[in-house]
Amino acid sequence: MSYRPIVTGSKLAERNDSTGLYQVVVKLKDGGECRLFYSPLGTKINRLQTTPCPVCRRDYYCSCMDNFVEEISGQVDLEELKAAQPASK
Ligand SMILES: [Zn+2]
Repeated sequence: MSYRPIVTGSKLAERNDSTGLYQVVVKLKDGGECRLFYSPLGTKINRLQTTPCPVCRRDYYCSCMDNFVEEISGQVDLEELKAAQPASK
């Protein structure tokens, strides 16, 4: 049985158009929260330690979510988030 993350909400948390770095806080259906780090080199993910990891059940740092970065980021529309929140100057 494999974990199936379902994104229920996403919010642009950090934005830097000049460096191409963006952070998006993602809420998951199971109650977990993750932070996606977008950069020109690729996308990384960190689980926020608000709830135990849905995969290994630890409540401290683990790297389980690394296996789901594509599945989670695939449910987040970064362009739409950027459009909804104009850059602050
Ligand atoms: Zn884990």
